[in-house]
Amino acid sequence: MKAILWFNNNDIRLVDIPLPVPGPKEMLVKVISCGLCGSDVIEWYRLPRAPLIPGHEIGAEVVEVGQDITQYKRGDRVFIAPKVPCGQCYYCHHGHFPQCTEIKERLPGGFAEYILVPEAIVDRGTYLLPDNISFDESTFIEPLACVIRSQRLAGIKRKQIVLILGSGVSGLLQLQLAKRKECNVVITDLVEKKLSLAQEMGADLALRATDNISERIQLFFGKKADFVILCTSSLEAIDQAWQCVDKGGTIIFFAVPGPEKKVIIPLNAFWTQEIKIITSYYCGPPDIQEAIRLLSEKKIEVNRLITHRLPLEETALAYKLVLSGQEALKVIIKPQLNVS
Ligand SMILES: [Zn+2]
Ligand SMILES: [Zn+2]
Repeated sequence: MKAILWFNNNDIRLVDIPLPVPGPKEMLVKVISCGLCGSDVIEWYRLPRAPLIPGHEIGAEVVEVGQDITQYKRGDRVFIAPKVPCGQCYYCHHGHFPQCTEIKERLPGGFAEYILVPEAIVDRGTYLLPDNISFDESTFIEPLACVIRSQRLAGIKRKQIVLILGSGVSGLLQLQLAKRKECNVVITDLVEKKLSLAQEMGADLALRATDNISERIQLFFGKKADFVILCTSSLEAIDQAWQCVDKGGTIIFFAVPGPEKKVIIPLNAFWTQEIKIITSYYCGPPDIQEAIRLLSEKKIEVNRLITHRLPLEETALAYKLVLSGQEALKVIIKPQLNVS
């Protein structure tokens, strides 16, 4: 079967590898849609495991199940989670699923015609897709689940002022989720097209990232933002976060700058103003269930975020599109698409 082997962002190879054969407790699924995530193009994060078959936003169809599997059958439409927590350890008991000490990863990933789903992920990381969630829509389950978790960790409540820095896929999902809580949402970006989409999706203010964001927010709302969500790794955005957060507010690092970057925190001002800084990484099973529910109830619009659907052969182009940060939003790899 065909698969993509990623060495780094400039060395992405189409390879032919043996079709895996599932054991008694495993299953083989055919990948129909797999999203290219912003995190897939972050070299410092992915390189330690290279070369690897990337892709973790997977919508697939079951083609073969091991003899001991009763809960799934050939033809089932499924979402396969990238990794699953054990549900038993200290961290799982406290709801810190991403920190599970026994977390099981599913690699190789979805940029392949087929993937073998290991036992732990058959048991706890496979979700049947409701009929009204398409395979393309299913690639948003994992990113939306991460967004849901971040807003829950931050404690965003109804009608608060939320500033989202970055209008990529995660920024636009953050926006829609915050609007469901009737929050006042300000969003920024450098790309005009993303800002107009943000406005159509309900942003109260969509501002060019080069504007004086802090001043604009205070002019509009009479105060600064209760929450600032960083959906970009730019250092300028971090400075804006410091300037735009209100006293008692919270800054959420949903994206972070590279490890070689130094970030200086104005800790003294934050201490007297009781400003919190939190991080949010990945998601847990309850967030995935919630994401599936929101998508199936059509409460979050994702189809308008899909800008490209490409065959495996064009994965290198997909990486270029996402890395450029221009008009591409969600880029989906379709391993069953034939290039002729
Ligand atoms: Zn992702
Ligand atoms: Zn655990």
